[in-house]
Amino acid sequence: MSRFRLYPTPTQHAALLEQCGHARYVWNLALEQWSMWTRDRAPTPGFTEQCRQLTEARAASDWLRVGSQTVQQQALRDFAQAVRNFYTGTHRRPTWRKAGVHEGFRIVGAQASRIVKLNRRWAKVLVPKVGWVRLRLSRAVPNSKSYRVTCDRGGRWHLAFAAVPPPIPAPGTGEVVGVDRGITVSAALSTGELLACPGLSETEHARLKRLQRQLARSRRCSNRHERVQAAIARLHARVADRRKHWVEETSTDLARRFDVIRVEDLRIPQMTRRPKPKLDPERPGNYRPNRRRAKAGLNRGILAHGWGLLVQRLEDKAPGRVERVKPAYTSQTCAVCQHCAPENRKSQAVFRCVACGHQANADVNAAINIAAGQAVSARRETPPGVSPKREPQLTTSA
Ligand SMILES: [Zn+2]
Repeated sequence: MSRFRLYPTPTQHAALLEQCGHARYVWNLALEQWSMWTRDRAPTPGFTEQCRQLTEARAASDWLRVGSQTVQQQALRDFAQAVRNFYTGTHRRPTWRKAGVHEGFRIVGAQASRIVKLNRRWAKVLVPKVGWVRLRLSRAVPNSKSYRVTCDRGGRWHLAFAAVPPPIPAPGTGEVVGVDRGITVSAALSTGELLACPGLSETEHARLKRLQRQLARSRRCSNRHERVQAAIARLHARVADRRKHWVEETSTDLARRFDVIRVEDLRIPQMTRRPKPKLDPERPGNYRPNRRRAKAGLNRGILAHGWGLLVQRLEDKAPGRVERVKPAYTSQTCAVCQHCAPENRKSQAVFRCVACGHQANADVNAAINIAAGQAVSARRETPPGVSPKREPQLTTSA
């Protein structure tokens, strides 16, 4: 993915936001249609049928007609892809798009290559129905057939080309590295290195807490509320930028230094899933504690460290050189004598083998086990939690 910052004029800003609104509206309609489906009903309309319905909707609504047809059709195509991803088990169920959170649309085909270089630093891109928007040339523009325009919560516009980075050649030393993705450090290598993904600094964290208190005290929809909300969004965007930068740097470094990179085969979408509420049989109408808050904290930890992104980037940059290893017992097994016992794990950070007395950083010990581990197949045969009876819908929505 190569991303460029867009600098629209105020008029263009409004026009871009309107296009985002169209894309979101169409996506949410498709989602509504899809989620209405029940077992006893006819299949929901697929992409072709939805496109026909879109043409009708455009004829009926002035608001939709002024928007770009490409943008609206691509929203349907993206939705069809999201449904496919859900059925193959790699992604979760498609979700509702919200204003202010999911602002973006996609342009494909010949329209996506209308970029003119102005000088060494600047170029302009012709966005359908919006006009020429200036963009900053922070790197070479890749040769790509599609791009996505997004607005983050901090109000910054970006243009991202869907281009997989070129693979990095293996060093050819035959060296294998194990990467353990932990909570206390972001990643531990079997070489003993501990890598930390940067987050908020102390002062930034204090500022975030202060802003959150201000937000809680201010009236909803007031000027102050909006101002504080925007400041919080900018802080979050800053952390996200740092995380992305760290992931790119780390993945490039690992791909350059090692021939084979072994990672735990963790399924992040499942690990971060919200725990189901359970009814309490003794108190009707009440729910049992399900440790949801505790899990939410852990979820934030996992996502904040960008695990999924790191592995995805590694697979892009070192294709065929990333192996997924079964994570079972890697944190309890001694890397020296292979003795496996839960008592080996003294604490989150310290590993001490009860059999041979080997002592090490717990994450590094696990990383060494991962480096020695056997690769598992990247995808399980049956997607988790999906009934095979649902299969017919896959063909209709594809
Ligand atoms: Zn041992």
